[in-house]
Amino acid sequence: MTLELIFPVYNEEAVLNALTERIEQVFKNENVAPLGITGVLVTFLDNSSTDSSVEMIRKYIKVSSFKARVIKLSRNFGHQNSVSAGLHYSKGDHVAVLDADLQDPPEVVLEMYKEMKQGYDIIYGVRKKRKESAAKRFSYWLFYRAYKFMSSIQVPLDAGDFCLMSRRAVDAFNSLGESIRFPRGIRAWIGFNQKGYEYERAARAEGNSKYSFSDLVGLAIDGITAFSIRPLRLTQYLATFYFLCSMLFTGYLVYRFFHPVFLQKDTLVVLAMMSVSNMFVMVILHIHGAYLGRTYLESKQRPIFLVEEITSNEI
Ligand code: UDP
Ligand code: MG
Repeated sequence: MTLELIFPVYNEEAVLNALTERIEQVFKNENVAPLGITGVLVTFLDNSSTDSSVEMIRKYIKVSSFKARVIKLSRNFGHQNSVSAGLHYSKGDHVAVLDADLQDPPEVVLEMYKEMKQGYDIIYGVRKKRKESAAKRFSYWLFYRAYKFMSSIQVPLDAGDFCLMSRRAVDAFNSLGESIRFPRGIRAWIGFNQKGYEYERAARAEGNSKYSFSDLVGLAIDGITAFSIRPLRLTQYLATFYFLCSMLFTGYLVYRFFHPVFLQKDTLVVLAMMSVSNMFVMVILHIHGAYLGRTYLESKQRPIFLVEEITSNEI
């Protein structure tokens, strides 16, 4: 049985040495052989880093004790798409997805592997504690709960991309053709025997987070729209509710036309109704826009990533 590790990389020169050292140490033969792992393959997905990441990885590939390769994408297709690219190119019997910044401890992959032997196809990491700022922790907490409420599939709470998958689960993942891909949603959607594995998410070892706040908001909306039309339904209920309110109010205005009372309060009520109406309409438009835009992008059927170059130590 072979084990493949997939690392999306974007400008990670500060952490790469620590990462490769850790990989060498954790997956050395004496640790993996007792588990029945006969070969380890390390795959880096480089998003056209602008620092020396690719050169560093190429150097590592030459001296690595494992089969190793770097797939350099033609630009930064983003973390989520590079996870998809990695799974697409993966060859291992078991495939693990990890962040390159050592936030997902490589040791945990071996623990997950042991769990997997109990008859699972997917073991996904569930964060016990986050070593991040309170604001970020709160945003994630809120996102996962909102996601659970909105989504029509059961996406496990506090589970990120970190996971170990069997070959057949990876093949199932790759068989989904959508181009706006939310890996952890697809992973939940494909089913099979899945189990969470609690682990302590480390702080980023070196360098800075490559996600901005607006990236995270975009990711959250992608995640929700990709698997649920519940928000869209909600706008339909709201629209119906507001239509009924408007009908009643129009009746009231007609009545007032024949029984005019020039009270200033009436004017205030009209204005208030208008502004509340606008609020509803704006929310509805926003949600419709989110779906419409994504439908448009999806309809183009563009590739999710493009490969510029593959460097490997396999002949
Ligand atoms: N990453 C990437 N492209 C991006 C952003 C991030 O390949 O546009 C990679 C990054 O190098 C890291 C992983 O995705 O290996 C997670 O990113 P990061 O640690 O910055 O995110 P955070 O942990 O802060 O959410
Ligand atoms: Mg990180």
